[in-house]
Amino acid sequence: MARYTGPSCRLCRREGQKLFLKGERCYSGKCALEKRSYAPGQHGQGRKKSSEYGNQLREKQKCKRFYGLQETQFRNLFDKAAAKKGITGDNLLIMLETRLDNVVFRMGLASSRKEARQLVTHGHFTVNGKKADIPSMPLKAGDVVAVKEKSTSSPKFKEIKEMTISTPAWVTIDTQKLEGKVLAMPTRDQIDTPVAEHLIVELYSK
Ligand code: SF4
Repeated sequence: MARYTGPSCRLCRREGQKLFLKGERCYSGKCALEKRSYAPGQHGQGRKKSSEYGNQLREKQKCKRFYGLQETQFRNLFDKAAAKKGITGDNLLIMLETRLDNVVFRMGLASSRKEARQLVTHGHFTVNGKKADIPSMPLKAGDVVAVKEKSTSSPKFKEIKEMTISTPAWVTIDTQKLEGKVLAMPTRDQIDTPVAEHLIVELYSK
């Protein structure tokens, strides 16, 4: 399936929840969900009756959209999560969190996951000193993500040097060096993405 290229805010309105796809705008009064908190389309304001399957499907769509994955990527990741030891739902969220694009976002080096993915694809980062331009690259504890020397003079990263960034406990960022580290793999309770992952597991287990 092709990547969705329509308006990002439409996705939030469809899920009835902020997915934080547009950086700073999402935290401002300009957020489309604050102005029109109903689903898009002709029947967006109609009756909201949802089946068990409907709820499971929406939860999967929401999670996929939060992290900006396409259906096939998401399904493949789920299969890998299911094949691992432990709780499948937890594994899935941990694998989503430790993708390079998400780690860049969590370190505060991008204002949204969408921007993080773009910056990674454009080759602005290294992982452990080596070029890393694949957003889905899985990171592990101890990995060091840094802005490439050549990119440190760009206005975007110069601005970050002046900022104070708070990160989740499992990553750190040194804004002066424009370098961060994955301290440990996140645990489920350290992941604040509002997703009921058990519904996704139920959906894919049918
Ligand atoms: Fe979603 Fe951000 Fe658009 Fe608000 S501004 S609807 S949170 S993408």
